[in-house]
Amino acid sequence: MSENQQTGLRVSILASGSSGNVTYVESDKTKLLVDCGLSGKKATNLLHQVDRKPEELDAILVTHEHRDHIHGVGVLARRYNLAIYANEKTWKAMEPHLGKLDVGQKHIFDMDRTMTIGDLDVSSFAVSHDAVHPQFYTFHKNNKQFVMLTDTGYVSDRLRGLLKDADAYLIESNHDLGMLRMGRYPWSLKQRILGDKGHLSNEDGALALAELIGDRTKRVYLGHLSKENNLKAIARQTAEDILIRRDTGVGEAFELFDTDPEEPVPLFSV
Ligand SMILES: [Zn+2]
Ligand SMILES: [Zn+2]
Repeated sequence: MSENQQTGLRVSILASGSSGNVTYVESDKTKLLVDCGLSGKKATNLLHQVDRKPEELDAILVTHEHRDHIHGVGVLARRYNLAIYANEKTWKAMEPHLGKLDVGQKHIFDMDRTMTIGDLDVSSFAVSHDAVHPQFYTFHKNNKQFVMLTDTGYVSDRLRGLLKDADAYLIESNHDLGMLRMGRYPWSLKQRILGDKGHLSNEDGALALAELIGDRTKRVYLGHLSKENNLKAIARQTAEDILIRRDTGVGEAFELFDTDPEEPVPLFSV
């Protein structure tokens, strides 16, 4: 049996960063996108790069209404007749930006719920971010779990407990504090990013991670890097330093991986 058939849960982070986010999650019977913050055309190209086609998709799960998460959702859903899932408040906020959809495409995914989509169990949880009602998702299949956690200014104790010891994580590593402080963003935007409802810095992401990872954890992807205020090498170094100091087994018990705003990470088995 090939590695891909062992767990039945496979993921590729197709694009991640402040300019657009698209994640692909599949099981044997279900194929989903989480967010589509790039154009339909770009998302299609990214799917082709991991040997998948948009016409095979079942649904798009939306986390929140920011453009870097919904830009291509309407186009893709219309072209391939996909179901879209989001909570009610997010629907209200994003619907004017999606264009015309059939009522049958519109599905509600309430916060703090578990839904079974095809043969995948998906749970939603709240994050602390300046959108109307932002929620992220965790995916379960055959005792394996993949957690997505970006676009949050803060990781609560509740979340640390809820998301502990997953097999794989996509975690936010948005900005380097020094680069953000010295950079050319206006003061108000810097305050927004740094606030409790902004984004996790490299340091805060790694500190949260140090508490989340457990014996099961094998893969960690650093995501949602800011184009202006971060570099892959800095994000990675900051995370490694903190994870080594915390004696987490980075590079041995689990591997750290980069993500890219334009290149998909190879499809991996969770
Ligand atoms: Zn956002
Ligand atoms: Zn975002």
